[in-house]
Amino acid sequence: MAAATPPKYIKNILFALRSRGHAAYLVGGCVRDVMLGLTPNDWDICTSAMPEQIMEIFPDSDPTGIRQGTITVKSGKRSAEVTTFRSESNYTDHRHPDSVMFVGDLVEDLRRRDFTVNAIAYSVDGVVVDPFGGRADLEAGILRCVGDPMVRFEEDALRMFRALRFSARFGFQIEEATLAAIQAKSHLSEAVSAERVRDEMEKLLVSDHPEYFAIAVESGLMDRFLSFRPADLREKLSYLASVGKKANYRWASLAHTLEAEGCIPSVREFLFSLHIDSRTLRCCTDAAQILHGPILNTTIAWKKCLSVYGVDSVQCAAEYFDAKYHGQGRETLRSILKSGECFSVSHLAVTGRDLLNLGYKGKALGEILAFLLDYVIEHPEFNSRELLLTLITGMEET
Ligand code: ATP
Ligand code: MG
Repeated sequence: MAAATPPKYIKNILFALRSRGHAAYLVGGCVRDVMLGLTPNDWDICTSAMPEQIMEIFPDSDPTGIRQGTITVKSGKRSAEVTTFRSESNYTDHRHPDSVMFVGDLVEDLRRRDFTVNAIAYSVDGVVVDPFGGRADLEAGILRCVGDPMVRFEEDALRMFRALRFSARFGFQIEEATLAAIQAKSHLSEAVSAERVRDEMEKLLVSDHPEYFAIAVESGLMDRFLSFRPADLREKLSYLASVGKKANYRWASLAHTLEAEGCIPSVREFLFSLHIDSRTLRCCTDAAQILHGPILNTTIAWKKCLSVYGVDSVQCAAEYFDAKYHGQGRETLRSILKSGECFSVSHLAVTGRDLLNLGYKGKALGEILAFLLDYVIEHPEFNSRELLLTLITGMEET
């Protein structure tokens, strides 16, 4: 295998299985990633050993996935998933196999996998098992289903979203028949929960090709979240790659663009229907509001915005603004945050307690804090306790 070799704890598991006479291979994402010269997130192992035999060899392991044949094996302080070779049958709900069968044959196990590039196995002694041409597809940058794509997407509709996610992550072209099958079977995406759609689309969005979201839209996969499919979306999303690679930045920009295209009722409703977490939802709806408001073209305007919406939301807006209009928002924010200048009541050199001591209460106290904040945003050099107390006393006297 190319660049990275498996870490020692993985080799130990592979050797332990083989020394008991079982076949054992690295498989799936880790083989693909290593062949691409990337560092895998995790190392999955498949084996001819039955789940009970895996448990016997590694008594200190977690059998949570045992019915699907997956045992989480501990090796030193680390752990890895070890799965018995299996095939699957009948997918009545277009999402999960009705049953799984343990099989003795590695090729059968590889056949149930989604894409050729995810269906390569590698043994530590250097044998590559690649019955579906995954390596050639990796080299050519092609994402292709194992077997007939129409059948594979019928079985499990999630694979259509996975196809887009992997093609965006690696910049791979989706092979013609695979893409045609996504278009033909996109209605089955209804079988995929909103949470799974969100997770797959989020991985796509934080990749090098977030504009591939347009392929999901054009092929009909996102129909249930949109009122119509906008034209030329890929072009309209081309700026997204220049937005910082963080999920909330990219969701905020995407949702704002879709709203501007009129194909979602609002940023909030779109993201809510995708079950986005509440923090991201807030950042994105705030960012949309900021972007609907006047252009922020002075440091004072940015600080006022920070005082209302907080750093995360304003950053989301700045990311969109800069990527789309080559603005200076990120730089301005960076220098505001670096300067330590005040943009929040909590940064004021006087506290609520100081004002209580001066006899302010309730609404009046809130109003004076708001006034001081506005003042200090415009005159940062005034943010000293002494100067602010003098200012308040002066106000009382007039
Ligand atoms: P990542 O690096 O994102 O984890 P991965 O390829 O490891 O990518 P996983 O979701 O961890 O993806 O799945 C591990 C392997 O299991 C895949 O490489 C693929 O071989 C197989 N697989 C996962 N989900 C499916 C599916 N829905 N249908 C068919 N095979 C699948
Ligand atoms: Mg994985």
